[in-house]
Amino acid sequence: MLTRLQWLKAVPRPNSVLHSQIVRRNFKSNNNKANGIRGVVNPKLEVATQGIDRMPHINTDRQYKYSEGKIYNGFQCERIEYIPDFELTSCTLRHLGTGTEFWYIDRKDTNNVFSINFRTTPFDSTGMPHILEHLSLCGSKNFPVRDPFFKMLNRSVATFMNALTGPDYTLYPFSTMNEVDFRNLQKIYLDAVFRPNLAYLDFLQEGWRLEHTDLQNRDSELIIKGVVYNEMKGAFSENSQVFIQNLLNNMLPSHTYGFCSGGNPLEIPKLSHKDLVEFHDKYYHPSNARIFCYGSFDLEKTLKFVDEEYLSHHERIDNSYSRIPPQERWKQPRNVHIPSRLDRMGASFDRQNQIAIGLLMSDITDIQESFELNVLSEVMVRGPNSAFYKNLIEPNFSGGYNQTTGFSADCKDTYFVVGLQDLKVEDFKKFNELFEQTVQTTIKEGFEPQHIKSVLHNLELSLKHQSPHFGNALLFNSTSLWNHEGDVVANLRVSEMIATLRQRLKENKNYLQEKVEKYFSSNNTHRLTLTMSPDEMYEENFKQAEAEMLKQKISALDSKKLDEIYQNGLKLEASQKSIVNTDVLPCLSLTDVKEPPKLPQITMETVQNVPTQLCKVPTNEITYLKCLFNITGLTREEIMLVPLFCNVINDMGTNSRDFREFDKLVLSKTAGIDFKLNFVENVKDAKTYRLGLMMTTHALDKNVSDMFCLSEELLLNFKLEDTDRLQMLIENYISNISVGITSSGHLYAMLSAAGLVTDAGQLKSLLSGLDHIGFMKKYVQETSTGDIRDRLKSIGSKVFSKNNMRAAINSSAAYQSTALEHYTRFVNSLPSHEEMKTDIDINLLQPGLQHYLMNIPVNYCSKTFFAVPYLHEDHPVLRVLAKLISAKYLLPVVREQNGAYGAGAKIGSDGIFSFFSYRDPHSIKTLRAFDNTYEWLQAENEKLDQQTLFESKLGVLQQLDSPTAPGNIGIDNFLYGVSHEMFVKYRSRVLSVTVDELRSVIDKYFKEEPKHFGKVILGPANDKLDNEKSGLKWNVIS
Ligand SMILES: [Zn+2]
Repeated sequence: MLTRLQWLKAVPRPNSVLHSQIVRRNFKSNNNKANGIRGVVNPKLEVATQGIDRMPHINTDRQYKYSEGKIYNGFQCERIEYIPDFELTSCTLRHLGTGTEFWYIDRKDTNNVFSINFRTTPFDSTGMPHILEHLSLCGSKNFPVRDPFFKMLNRSVATFMNALTGPDYTLYPFSTMNEVDFRNLQKIYLDAVFRPNLAYLDFLQEGWRLEHTDLQNRDSELIIKGVVYNEMKGAFSENSQVFIQNLLNNMLPSHTYGFCSGGNPLEIPKLSHKDLVEFHDKYYHPSNARIFCYGSFDLEKTLKFVDEEYLSHHERIDNSYSRIPPQERWKQPRNVHIPSRLDRMGASFDRQNQIAIGLLMSDITDIQESFELNVLSEVMVRGPNSAFYKNLIEPNFSGGYNQTTGFSADCKDTYFVVGLQDLKVEDFKKFNELFEQTVQTTIKEGFEPQHIKSVLHNLELSLKHQSPHFGNALLFNSTSLWNHEGDVVANLRVSEMIATLRQRLKENKNYLQEKVEKYFSSNNTHRLTLTMSPDEMYEENFKQAEAEMLKQKISALDSKKLDEIYQNGLKLEASQKSIVNTDVLPCLSLTDVKEPPKLPQITMETVQNVPTQLCKVPTNEITYLKCLFNITGLTREEIMLVPLFCNVINDMGTNSRDFREFDKLVLSKTAGIDFKLNFVENVKDAKTYRLGLMMTTHALDKNVSDMFCLSEELLLNFKLEDTDRLQMLIENYISNISVGITSSGHLYAMLSAAGLVTDAGQLKSLLSGLDHIGFMKKYVQETSTGDIRDRLKSIGSKVFSKNNMRAAINSSAAYQSTALEHYTRFVNSLPSHEEMKTDIDINLLQPGLQHYLMNIPVNYCSKTFFAVPYLHEDHPVLRVLAKLISAKYLLPVVREQNGAYGAGAKIGSDGIFSFFSYRDPHSIKTLRAFDNTYEWLQAENEKLDQQTLFESKLGVLQQLDSPTAPGNIGIDNFLYGVSHEMFVKYRSRVLSVTVDELRSVIDKYFKEEPKHFGKVILGPANDKLDNEKSGLKWNVIS
């Protein structure tokens, strides 16, 4: 699903080409989901090369600490500009010796960012840059320990730590609010990229290797193992990822984009360690590096360190070897068809097809053009007023837009894609015809000014909206442009680009139509039509190709090589099991983290009996509203339909306005009005839970009155009469919920496993987990759209009342009283109904084992059991223990030794303790590792020292102290009733946990097999799933 145009997004979006290539190393941030069209990136070529006429932009503040032309610690400052849109000062510096670019963004923000990136352009699909990215973080000259990156995760309070491989760059970013931490991580990162060990054994572990299934037995079978090898098998088990990857490779085939930088599993075993070392020498040279630094910490300290320790040891080289030429334009459009695996969770076989048309557009460095094309693409595809939506989505012959739809500015050439998922092969032709028709009609008839206005308003609003990860977002949004030597500074002047576009629209009524004619019509011959259909033999073909590759590898081995493999297997195992001395790694101390986050300014008011939380916070002229309606009194059937209700209620119009008009109005005044199901267990005893339906919206202060009027109109006058439209929305909903399962497979596995522990967990899985997909498909098959409509109507009429409501408003101190006036009028207008009951009891279930059969080559495993709720005194201790188990047991065993991409343990506020694995070649072995936690903890008893304990606490603090967006401050109090005092108490309890307390919870919760537990596997068929210690049988769900 496309979301609204936003200038900055905290994480690379998964539905872009970028993401298919960006392979995240740090698994822990993997559940950060961002979607939406990425905004605005890019400068005019001539501007970039000639140097922009930047007179009006120079920071005129004479007091500013740096000046252009001056030299600071070996770096010359080349350009300083103040960017009012984001209240930041940009300083571009260049290292005198190596020519390394250093971009510093000076901004009053505590969440500081540092990153290094290299332009990496592979010419094969062995995953060279990706494996190098893993290996760089496996130990370096100053930090010769195994995997310092993962070790640092627990010695830091980083708000983000990662390494990413893009299609043409490799990026090493981190962020933190603590300056000691910032300096520590800087040391690790710089040493990792400029002086990595790149040890052969690490190559075998992270890249690929041949290994005996039984390490001790030379005669046992040989198989291929490796972290990246499995990671990429997992990445391509998602059909949408296969589609995205193929789209990029086929749209831009002539240079590096013709290959898969992440690595094709069948190509990865062609990579040699020697090639990798050479690749590092060539591409990780400082002259080919770009360093980014953002925030409020002392810049000169950083410059001095970077210069003295690293850059001054290198000579400057010409980095043009890594430059990427523009794609040569085709004279004729091309068609490509690819097969996909049959997705068991997806649509029926005959509908499981995808089609997309991709059109090559501008050069990424032409920023105004890219900006306008991005806006144009938004106007063309998003929402019920766009031409493609009207012509491709509304006829309802598909499951809606596919993941590739939108504008992409991630490569040297930008491109636009529109595509559909879940349609029949017979309808490919229809898609093509409708595409042509849409383009022709748009050229002829143009656009509705009000529609363009609402798109631009939304963009302006997103500039004001503050993300707590602004620095990271700015980095991610600038990296591609910077990598192609575009003007990243001019690209931040979004208001100016909007103004330029408005002026052009004013001067030329046909301005956008001309762009459509140039880029979308048959005038643009660089057009790719990509189609994809399921092949029942897909998985089998892959397995055969893999077996064939293995056979060839083995037949080429002589006895010397065979002996080497055997020895290496033993060596690697010994090295993985050896004790690592991490003393060389820096670590924070208790004094660095003592201070809890500041008390938010929250007050509680009752407005006509509606409990209302008011929060004063610097919001940059935006007011945020959350209304939470209690839905606990709905019937079970109605509750089951609430997720669907949330999805369609804001998309059907109201009694006074049809859906097109309403959408236009909402987007020209607010950021949208969204609904979400809210599920909250009682944090005190976890014996009851509550269900809510939450409406969220925000608007510029000047539009707050409209925001309340529109919310009121929707809540009181929602309209669901149009069953054709409703049916289309339902079908798109079902297609969308089954996309992206494997990229979050661990979350689905944990959700399902928790559903085997309590009835509340079971309901949660039915409302948002894998079971929801099955339920909805069946329900829709068996129920007429008219009946569904009636049930949805009844939900709305029962729920939207002031007696069922609680609300939270976050605004600036100055605006709060005005916001409250508008809000009071809004509450006044809501009807009064009978109050609903508030709590439902939670019951524990008998243990269960569930295997969701999926047609994929990797597994996601989870084991859960019921422990204690959030406010129980053992909860913080268990939370610290979960971190310890993750870092000291599951990562070394399940990841390093057994080859899963990720693994961990956690405890939720609902009291459920969960283990999980991610993209895992094993299942039984992993579940056994989960079961053996107690034995491991006993064996390692002596190693439970103060340092290990402190590192585990830091892991918890990373979560507790992570920065919150202004619109979400106070949300724990609002949703869960966790006040700041409770939070501070919990936090200090985490810091005070002792080794003895850890030992006591280990005995209390892990010694005996828990009474209430669940185990879940998502993965391929497995006939060896027996011998369960508990004697339970696996329930297989296909
Ligand atoms: Zn990776």
